[in-house]
Amino acid sequence: MPASSAWPARLALALLLLVLSSASVLLWRQIESVQQQRVDERVGYQARSLARQLESTLHLEVASLERIARLWNSLGRLPRTSWDEEVELALRGFPAYQSIQWVGPDLHMRWLLPVAGNEAALNFRLYPEHPNYPLAMEARESGEQRFSNSFDLVQGGRGFVLYTPLYREPNGSKVFDGFLQGVFRVEPLMLQLLTQIDRQAFNLELLENGHSLFRHGAATDNAPHNLQLGLSLLNNQGFSLRLSPTEELLDQLDSPLPDVVLGASLTISLLLIAALALALENSRRAHALQQANRRFKLEAERREETEQRLRENRERLQLVLDLTDSSHDGLFIFDSSTRELLHMNQATYATLGYRPEQFAELLRDDPEKLLPGFHRWLEQARQAQSNNLSRIFQRELIRRDGSRQPAEINTQLVQLHDREYLIAVSRDNSERLQLEAQLQRLSQLDGLTGLYNRRYFDQQLLAEWRRLRRLDAPLALLMLDIDHFKAYNDALGHLAGDDALRRVSNVLRESLQREGDTACRYGGEEFAIILANTNLDGAEQVAARIHAMIADLDIAHPASPFSRLTLSIGLIVVDPVSDEQPGELLAQGDQALYRAKHEGRNRTCLWQPHALDQYQAL
Ligand code: GH3
Ligand code: MG
Ligand code: MG
Repeated sequence: MPASSAWPARLALALLLLVLSSASVLLWRQIESVQQQRVDERVGYQARSLARQLESTLHLEVASLERIARLWNSLGRLPRTSWDEEVELALRGFPAYQSIQWVGPDLHMRWLLPVAGNEAALNFRLYPEHPNYPLAMEARESGEQRFSNSFDLVQGGRGFVLYTPLYREPNGSKVFDGFLQGVFRVEPLMLQLLTQIDRQAFNLELLENGHSLFRHGAATDNAPHNLQLGLSLLNNQGFSLRLSPTEELLDQLDSPLPDVVLGASLTISLLLIAALALALENSRRAHALQQANRRFKLEAERREETEQRLRENRERLQLVLDLTDSSHDGLFIFDSSTRELLHMNQATYATLGYRPEQFAELLRDDPEKLLPGFHRWLEQARQAQSNNLSRIFQRELIRRDGSRQPAEINTQLVQLHDREYLIAVSRDNSERLQLEAQLQRLSQLDGLTGLYNRRYFDQQLLAEWRRLRRLDAPLALLMLDIDHFKAYNDALGHLAGDDALRRVSNVLRESLQREGDTACRYGGEEFAIILANTNLDGAEQVAARIHAMIADLDIAHPASPFSRLTLSIGLIVVDPVSDEQPGELLAQGDQALYRAKHEGRNRTCLWQPHALDQYQAL
């Protein structure tokens, strides 16, 4: 997996971590709120139960005083003893009473129980200035019981009064007969209430119109989980109870569960994410490893293949090298500009007698000593290649011993990596050249006599003519014909004739002493001799020498007037400056020969311009 494609997965992991963390926090808050709820419920339950209890306690007293009032109202003013009994009964049942008292219709204190501790109240009178006066009047008017607000008791301390109006009916009409007053002290009332609860667990406050009348424990107004419940005491709705849990209770109820759950779930989330990240990283690494392995395998295969090809190529190359080494032809490849050898086979240097390094050195340092005309040859090879001409050149290679070896060199120029290489295949063709030369010579010779033949004579005559014309030198031509040769054949046979022809030919060959002089068999028993750069004297000498030598041969000729074989010579000497062609020269030589025959044979006649006319005239 490439690094870039890991990002979506990482993002997903981060999101997952966020979701899991949020879920953990939510769960924590949920548990926390359930716990808070439990505290609230506990406080609520306790507060409600206390409030109802206080209400029902006071209402019980309401009912008990009302019962006394009913007795009073129905039976008339109770005798003091009966009143005392009833009141003492009520006082015994409820310790929060400060006192129960009868205030007469003139609003003066009449009877009061218990007297002890309430002496200060014995002379009490409810003046209109008293804060409870209006409420008392309201009770009197309505005939219903009324709870007063709290006030400072004359006996000391804070308390409140339950006014129960009393009536009499002396004349059948209802007459107000004062109040039966239950005076309650706040403190014992509340202390009694506190016995109902675990005092260590709760703070409790009694409030009257928001003002604290009694407090147990710490202040509750700003305490957490506090709950304030209004008390319904007949007419008076001003009292309320406020309850809050103590630190101790909160500590008891405070469970480490939410924090543990939060910590655990965050840890689990983190561990999960870490495990997933690890797995992701592992998978990424495994993938990368797999990719790398695949690439490595491919590379290895490719290398194996390349090596195999290389091995094959090497083997093939070795084969080619072996083949070239076994070849009799020289093969060498060199850089055409530096002449550094790239390769050469054994035949290249061995046939010339060099060691490999000698050949290489010579080619590099002094190629002209190895192959005369080397640079011209290189240029020719380039031109031949670019003009698509034959790239086979006949050159000579210099052997180690200094001798020359003809070589037919096939060239091929190749461009490789910005360099020019010349591939040369050289073959020692000296034998073929010799053979060709021999064939050439044979084609120029006459089979019977070994002299040059007529074709060669014609070429030679033309060549000499031109050469001597350039040199401005004379050329002599001798035309020779054996005398009475037909008769010779007839007399001695054709074989003897051939033999005689050979012997005459030998004489002619021997008679020539200068290089460039050429004797040919021109026809059956006719011969021609070219004497280059020879004047008339010289030519006559040669002709005379021939006559003499033929005479020396002394070949018997039974049918000849000379009794031996003789020959006639027509001689012509010219300066080939004129525009005349050698053809003319031949004709003139013939004419001279004709004259020699005519004049008796066995002689030499020089061509003369008008001799023929003379002759023809004869
Ligand atoms: P002349 O003195 O006028 O030259 O008389 P000739 O008999 O020599 O002349 P002709 O031209 O009449 O005869 C030439 C003869 O040369 C004819 C032929 O028998 C002979 N001959 C030509 N070539 C050969 C040859 O190769 N071998 C032999 N044995 N005889 C040849
Ligand atoms: Mg003849
Ligand atoms: Mg003849």
